Amino acid sequence: MFVKPQLKTLNAYVPGKTTAAIKKEHGLGHVIKLASNENPYGASPLAIKAYQNFTDFSIYPDGSVLALREKTAKFLGVEPNQLLFGAGADEVIQMVSRAILSKGDNIVLADDTFIQYRHHAVIEGAESKIVPLIGGTHDLEGMLKAIDPFTRMVWVCNPNNPTGTYVNSHALEAFLHQVPDNVLVILDEAYLEYAVAEDFPKSIPLVNKFKNLLILRTFSKAYGLAAFRIGYGVGAGELIAGFETARLPFNTTAPSQEAAMAALADQGFVAQCAAKNREAMALLEGFLNKKGIAYYPSQANFLFIPLNNSREIAAFLESIGIIVRPFPTGLRISIGTKEEISELIGGLGQWFGKAVEGVIK
Ligand SMILES: *Cc1c(COP(=O)(O)O)cnc(C)c1O
Repeated sequence: MFVKPQLKTLNAYVPGKTTAAIKKEHGLGHVIKLASNENPYGASPLAIKAYQNFTDFSIYPDGSVLALREKTAKFLGVEPNQLLFGAGADEVIQMVSRAILSKGDNIVLADDTFIQYRHHAVIEGAESKIVPLIGGTHDLEGMLKAIDPFTRMVWVCNPNNPTGTYVNSHALEAFLHQVPDNVLVILDEAYLEYAVAEDFPKSIPLVNKFKNLLILRTFSKAYGLAAFRIGYGVGAGELIAGFETARLPFNTTAPSQEAAMAALADQGFVAQCAAKNREAMALLEGFLNKKGIAYYPSQANFLFIPLNNSREIAAFLESIGIIVRPFPTGLRISIGTKEEISELIGGLGQWFGKAVEGVIK
């Protein structure tokens, strides 16, 4: 084998099953997917139009992402040189890991969090110091204690995927004050647009105060552009400049830059999606409360039910045409439309006993 030995300890990413695959497997005519936290309302019509108007197929994209950079900087209230664009936030995670980590280093992260953080650390030969979540939430105290002289970065996913929980602004700032300056804190806010808690961190101004803070954002979730692969990091100018050499020359595509610019300009669409998300979430919460099924309160567009038989439930739901995501610690359900959530409630009702009256049509 030619690859680094540590790659043998990893699995290639297995995406959630497609609706087409499930239809075929179970002979179903109708299948809904509540497994990948995708936007059930699609994308802004402005973004779709921008993409349809794109014709410069033979021209390399603007690798420096000038136009989208300007607009995003203005939207966030930062300088253009404080942004690092990638083919999804996923690529930013890869770039940052590649630029920072070597053998002998370690990262600090939660046990149940976004899988890609550890994945890239392993590829770079770094160790992972895993700090268990407490009640589904990041244990920032524990993470601080885990930092040692070989720690290069700490990952905080907020809201956390898969649990949907969050750390509030007070806890985050106290944490940032205590993390040593030479340790990078990466705050992954892939689901920020869905957060409604009043004390949810308003993180962007913090990058000017803490030069060791990198915030991740994406156009894949609330903006509904997952197919385009575009996301970015926000940090101090000096921090961002350091990552530029680890970036491929044309890492984001021209049509995705166009679509993202139009999507960013349509904040009304994002707000609508976030509002509908809370409505459908409330429907699911109502059902779970009624049934006495415990779940983690979520600030994202998914809800996590801690369970130890999540695979069985997921397999049952799949057999009736509802795809959800099982984890070893529980079931993650993406919040679809109200209709989709009603259907899911019907399925969960079948599994957990008798269906709840009035919810299922
Ligand atoms: C979806 C997701 C990302 C990556 O999204 P991209 O599509 O690569 O932009 C990053 N972090 C978390 C926590 C996610 O759930």
